[in-house]
This record gives sequence, C-alpha cells and structure tokens, in this order.
Amino acid sequence: MAGTLIVAESDEGRLRPEFWELVTAGRALSAAAPGGLAVALLGSSAGSAAEDACGAGAAEVHLVEDEKLAEPWPEAHAEALAELCSELTPEVVILPRTVLGSEVAARLAIRLACPLIQDAVDIELDGRGLRARRPVFGGAVLATVYATAQPSVVVPRPHVFPAAEPSGGAPCPLVRHRPSFAAELRTQCGPRTRYATTGVDIERASVIIAGGAGLGGPEPFELLREVADLLGGAVAASRPACDAGWVDSALQVGLTGKTVAPELYMAVGISGAIQHLMGCSSSQVIVAVNTDPAAPILNVANYGVVGDWREVIPAFRDALRARQHQLSGVL
Ligand SMILES: Cc1cc2nc3c(=O)[nH]c(=O)nc-3n(C[C@H](O)[C@H](O)[C@H](O)COP(=O)(O)OP(=O)(O)OC[C@H]3O[C@@H](n4cnc5c(N)ncnc54)[C@H](O)[C@@H]3O)c2cc1C
Repeated sequence: MAGTLIVAESDEGRLRPEFWELVTAGRALSAAAPGGLAVALLGSSAGSAAEDACGAGAAEVHLVEDEKLAEPWPEAHAEALAELCSELTPEVVILPRTVLGSEVAARLAIRLACPLIQDAVDIELDGRGLRARRPVFGGAVLATVYATAQPSVVVPRPHVFPAAEPSGGAPCPLVRHRPSFAAELRTQCGPRTRYATTGVDIERASVIIAGGAGLGGPEPFELLREVADLLGGAVAASRPACDAGWVDSALQVGLTGKTVAPELYMAVGISGAIQHLMGCSSSQVIVAVNTDPAAPILNVANYGVVGDWREVIPAFRDALRARQHQLSGVL
C-alpha cells in the first residue's frame, strides 16, 4: 500500500518542473499517511524522468508503460492510473494542474468513485480525512473542504507549494506495470501538434509585463514586448485582451488562465478583478499602471502609477534604455 501517490508528468523523457511542487505537498502528507510516498510515471522509460523521480524521496517509482500513454490521452491515462490505484490502494493521489493532469484527475475520481479536490492551496491529513482549502466563487472565498473517502484525488494550485529539492539518496526501485485496458476506450487521441513559442514562458518568467483591456487593441502589446525584452521578461495579458484576440490565449493570467509568481508583475491597463488576481497575487512585487485611482489593482499593488499607459510606458522604456546604455558605457 502506498500512502501518498504522486503522479508525475514527463515531456520528452524529462520530468516536468511542476512535479517538484507536488513533492512538497506529498512529503508533508506522507509524514501523516502510513505507507509513505510513491511516484507513478505514465509513458515510457525513455529519458531520465524515472530516475529523477527517485529524488522525491519515494519508496518506489511505478512506471506504467503502454503506447497509448505516449500521447496526452486523458481517458487512457485515467484508465491506467485507476488500475494502478486498485493495486497500490493509496490514501491520497496527487496530480499536477496541467491540461492533462486536471482532466485525468476528474476521470480518475469518477472511475474510483472517490472524492476530488481541484485547485487546493493547502492540504493536510487529519482524523476526518484529507482537509484542503480551495478558492470558490471565482476566487472570492477560500472554502475548507474535506475528502473523507479513500483514495482522495487532489490537484494542488500551481506555484502555491514551493518546489522541493531532490533528495540525494540512493536510487529507488522501479516497478514496471503494463495496463490491461480491460474496458474499451471511448475516445481517441490524434498525434500531438507542437507549436513553436517564442520568448520567455510566463510560468517561469521572473519579470512579467501584462496588458489588459485598457490597452485598447493589439498594437500596444508591441510596446509591452519592448519593455519585457529590456528586462529579460515575458508579456502576459488579462482575459479580455486574450478573448479579443490581441494576444495568444496561452498568455492569459488568472482563474481560467495561468498562475504566475514572478519577482515583478507589472499590470498595465488591468483593473484587478478577483479572477485576474487569482493568477498573479503570488508575485513578489506588483506594479500597476492605471488611469483610475479607484481601480482594485491599486489596492494590491506594491507600487501604483495613476496615469495613462501612453505616457507612462514609453517613458519607462526610454528610461530603461538610457540606463542600459549608461551601464554598457561603464562596462
Ligand atoms: C469564471 C470567470 C473566470 C475568469 N477568468 C479570468 C482570468 O483567468 N483572467 C482574467 O484576467 N480575467 C478573468 N475573468 C474576467 C474578469 O472578471 C475581468 O472581467 C477581467 O479580468 C478584466 O480584465 P481587464 O482588467 O483587462 O479589463 P477591465 O476590467 O475593463 O479594466 C481595464 C482597466 O484599464 C484601465 N485603463 C483604461 N484606459 C487606460 C489607459 N489609457 N491607461 C491606463 N489604464 C487604463 C481602466 O481604468 C481599467 O481599470 C474571469 C471572469 C469569470 C466570471
């Protein structure tokens, strides 16, 4: 029996970075759950993922291999994981909040007829079961929820749990499984298409310049991009800017977008609706540029500039350029 089972995702044979956030959550739970910590890796043994997963401090890494698991096929992954859970009988199963992980978690909970907690910001085992807090009503309220049946499936909110350091212990046993896929799969999965992206990934960026509806169109995002380039950062956006097609929806920050935690988050022409703040409130420093002194973003910003981006941002860009020029003269 595994007390806590962490489901790792890999990409081209390497563990995805969010795995280490799940390890932090899993290590805390495994201290309270008999059976310790185990890792499940679905796909193939190619690359270093299985070996690196041992760094979680897991007693075992369970490698579930089948060609159906080579692609991000939610039904196949959920089916294979359900089989593994029946064998290992974990108390808690932790999955990442990725596109694949969120869907597999839901499908897994249905197959196992067990509770599911999505978007958990903290989790703990107590006498009643798994206790978690999660945002509800569009992030306006944090609800405390209990999962009292086993296993409990939980999906932590990204960037809330700090990434764990890999433990440098001895390699752990790798247990191989081959799912039977006894039930016929009712969905199909086509080949994966990879899109080339340019620039810095917003989920990893240390500086983000985000634009909102206040920019009025796609062109001003070029200006934000210039500032982001000067700071070695990335451009992001609020939902209306993405919905209007001004920028790619992959750049959306918020409840239905990405959760980011940069050192600097600059919100330009963004009002600060709770659904947007849900995605950026873990930033170390928030700077807001807004014409409206009553905009909610100014209540959470560390620095607020009440002004028009048309004046503020070009002046900021020019000041950054001048400073870079000065520094290159010194060096
Ligand atoms: C279930 C649900 C999920 C949602 N998920 C998300 C999400 O993931 N991400 C998200 O962002 N939103 C999300 N929303 C939408 C959210 O509620 C807000 O509508 C949205 O965040 C507002 O975007 P905005 O701040 O860009 O636009 P607005 O609220 O229209 O704000 C524009 C701001 O720009 C300022 N401004 C205007 N002109 C200028 C200027 N010249 N210079 C400087 N400032 C200027 C205005 O004063 C205003 O504050 C969600 C909503 C729901 C109901």
